[in-house]
Amino acid sequence: MAESDSLSPPIVRRISTPVQVGSVMLGGGAPIVVQSMTNTDTEDASATAQQIIELAQSGSELVRITVNTEQAAQQVAFIRDKVREAGYSVPIVGDFHYNGHRLLQVYPECAKSLDKYRINPGNVGYGEKRDIQFTQMIEVALKYDKPVRIGVNWGSLDQDLSSREMDKNAQSAHPRSAAEVLQETLVLSALLSAELAEKIGLPASKIVLSCKVSRVQDLIAIHRSLASRCSYAIHLGLTEAGMGTKGIVATTAALAVLLQEGIGDTIRASLTPEPGGDRNREVIVCQQILQALGLRAFMPSVSACPGCGRTTSSYFQELAKQVEAYIAQRMPTWSQHYHGVENLSLAVMGCIVNGPGESKHANLGISLPGTGEHPIAPVFADGRKVATLRGDNIVQQFQHIVEEYVVSHYDAKR
Ligand code: SF4
Repeated sequence: MAESDSLSPPIVRRISTPVQVGSVMLGGGAPIVVQSMTNTDTEDASATAQQIIELAQSGSELVRITVNTEQAAQQVAFIRDKVREAGYSVPIVGDFHYNGHRLLQVYPECAKSLDKYRINPGNVGYGEKRDIQFTQMIEVALKYDKPVRIGVNWGSLDQDLSSREMDKNAQSAHPRSAAEVLQETLVLSALLSAELAEKIGLPASKIVLSCKVSRVQDLIAIHRSLASRCSYAIHLGLTEAGMGTKGIVATTAALAVLLQEGIGDTIRASLTPEPGGDRNREVIVCQQILQALGLRAFMPSVSACPGCGRTTSSYFQELAKQVEAYIAQRMPTWSQHYHGVENLSLAVMGCIVNGPGESKHANLGISLPGTGEHPIAPVFADGRKVATLRGDNIVQQFQHIVEEYVVSHYDAKR
């Protein structure tokens, strides 16, 4: 197997207090966990269970569902059972707002069935009720030995705390900008709520924190501050990231900076699906962010050049697409039978300018002939030229080489 030829030092992860969530470990240096959230009506238990299963099949390692009504709370145990009966152990997290204290107390089966509770301190209650209702939720978590995520969101920030911080800033000799006060209030809301949870008796090993905003620079500043002031496990996510390319780019820009600095134990991409679009996309985006940063590997990677005037036909684009499709089709089988196959790297290049060089950095690379070049395609395996393909069926020949490489280079699972 080719050794990694990365020129960069490895990312140094912030080591947080580990939190066990069902079958999954968050923090403490464990692999960064990919999570997602359903968008079905939780009262529709069958649809919700089905979507949890689909998200788990896509690779979601934790799935959150909203628990917003009494009917939804009554369905949680059934949803959990359906998912487990289908053979999926993915932890299920309940998202509570406004009435969570009541639902968790009145429906013990719901409280027992969930693997974690998400509590938003900004809307757990107002005035005096805030601490009482927050305490009630933490007491349920203690009773059933469940971890919680204290998830602050700037769309529902604790208004009392926000006003206090604004007043304090107005009286300061060196007032900060409104954006800085907002950032500090989000961090304080998470830290003060965690402090209260610990006072009630919940240990740090049961607490995950998040502070979600929808602006990239705010998210980065907030989490740098949060990470430097506590050792709780951190859930990263850019909230309301948006649709399509914009949502993916904004999420990637924000999360990549923080992950590169070692911050973040679990991530979610809050993408708005196109109408009728695929919910699983948020899982794939998280996987690809982690894989692109070299933090985890989920699928063999295919590098392909963008093409230029030297590639006057779309042949190499088609080859790159067919190689990707072949990998996606074969991966479920390979991953069952071979250890480490997700680390396989391939390069599909359009001409001899960068083709042979780039191909040598991949486990397997193919350099197609550009305009005016000899109609041959050299193939490289771990830096050595192993074949020269020609003729009409270069794709099939290359797929055959990929298959042989997998069989001969990855240990069989027993
Ligand atoms: S490898 Fe060749 S075809 Fe591809 S972008 Fe570079 S010069 Fe153009």
